[in-house]
Formats: sequence, structure tokens, C-alpha cells
Amino acid sequence: MIELNSFSKSYKVKNGFAVKDVSLKIKDGEITGLLGPNGSGKTTLIKAVCGFHFPTEGNITITAPDQTRFTTDENPELCMKYIGYVPEIPLLPKDMLVSEFLRYAAEAHGIPEEKIEEACSLVIKECTLEKFLNKKIRTLSKGQQQRVSFAQAIIHNPPNLILDEPVSGLDPAQIIQMRELIQRLAKTKAVLMSTHILQEVRSLCSDIYILSSGHITAQGTEEEISKSAGTKTLEEAFIKLTQGEAL
Ligand code: ADP
Ligand code: MG
Repeated sequence: MIELNSFSKSYKVKNGFAVKDVSLKIKDGEITGLLGPNGSGKTTLIKAVCGFHFPTEGNITITAPDQTRFTTDENPELCMKYIGYVPEIPLLPKDMLVSEFLRYAAEAHGIPEEKIEEACSLVIKECTLEKFLNKKIRTLSKGQQQRVSFAQAIIHNPPNLILDEPVSGLDPAQIIQMRELIQRLAKTKAVLMSTHILQEVRSLCSDIYILSSGHITAQGTEEEISKSAGTKTLEEAFIKLTQGEAL
């Protein structure tokens, strides 16, 4: 489980806050959706959860299933162990074979030599990469590369999975495959998924937070958000709650 407690972040080069006073919970076994237009602060929040930068105010607490509990600013080195991160733009070594890259990712996570093969086999199966093991990453489609990015994110079986816009740029068949993968992984993990695509939160997320100009403007299920915004649909609520920022 991950908790953001009055989290705020400002960048030195920019006036004001990119994210302001956000409190939210990412619960085990659920997919939490962070829905906001471009520039609303989704990636800023996600990078702080992963320990890549620290809160300007507030804190982020991670509680592991083994009851290890820490804040990202006090123990950033533990973030890598307890979190799997799929960035918006996959950072993959394009000239490596898929099999080589997964082995490299396992080593980077400190998985002992005798367990590397087992760890790789599990993620290869989970992310249906069997057919691509001997292919260079650059020869794969965007959807296949995204699955490789997922595989490296879960190679150490982290209890939390953080996904930044996981379906943007994919075609409809790839989106369906990605949704199924996310749903499977959420059975054993706490998942946070950012998106600006309403359809994605609708089909996947049990708990939705709407982010507008760095502020949470609504939280709940699709029905709860529409009701509190006084609208008939999530689309109308989204436009109302982001004050047309998306238009
Ligand atoms: P989103 O992921 O929702 O599109 P971001 O978190 O990337 O939003 O950006 C939120 C705001 O913070 C934007 O105004 C953006 O310009 C600003 N921002 C993001 N990263 C940086 C940075 N490294 N330095 C300065 N400003 C940044
Ligand atoms: Mg972003």
C-alpha cells in the first residue's frame, strides 16, 4: 500500500506548485486511477512515488506486505525494491535482445544468479514475450516494447506497480492485451495508473482520483464522481472538474 499525505511538489525553475496538497491511497489488490489532462501533474506525482524526487511538502509512505514501512524521502533506496515502474516513454536499450535485457534487469535488482532464470521465465509468461526472446528490442512493435517494459518492472516481484500512461499510443488490440495484463497483475499488487483517457479508468479502476492543475478535485467510483459533480456522465464530470483544462 502507498499513501500520499498532503503531498506537494514545486520545481525550482517554475513558480508555484506542480502538485499541491494531494492525499491519496493506493490499496493492495486494486487499480487506482489518476485521471487528469496533460500538464495536470500526473508524472510529477508518479516520479515522487517512485523516489526519483522528494516531496516539497508532505510525505509518501510505503507499507510492504512484510510490514516494512518507510517514507520515500527517508529511504529512497527501498523504493526500487518495493515498486515496479513503467514510465510513459519506455527507456529500453534498443540494441539488446529481449532475453539479454531481462537477465540484465534481474541482475540490476540483485536477484541471485541461481534464481535469475526462474524470475525471467515468470515475467516472460506473464507478459507473453515467449515469441520475442531472441529479437532485438528495436524490432518490436510499440505494444510489444511496452510488454518488455512491464516485464522489467515486475522482474523482482514488487508489491506495488506504478504505470504512467500505460496505453497511450497503442492500437485497440494492444490496448485490450495491456488491460488484461494490468488486471492480472493487480490481483497481487497495489497498482497506480495515470491516464488522460477516460475509457481506461472506466474499464480498469475501482478508485479514481481526478487531478486538475495539480489539485485533486474529485475521488471515488465513476458513479460517485458523477454524482458529486452533479453530472450524468464521467466525461461531463471530468470537463467540469478540470475546468475545461482538457479542452
Ligand atoms: P502530466 O504528467 O499530467 O502531463 P507533469 O507532471 O509532467 O504533468 O507536469 C506538471 C507541471 O509541472 C507542468 O506545468 C510541467 O510543465 C511542470 N514540470 C514537469 N516536470 C518539470 C521539471 N522537471 N521542471 C520544471 N517543471 C516541470
Ligand atoms: Mg505525464
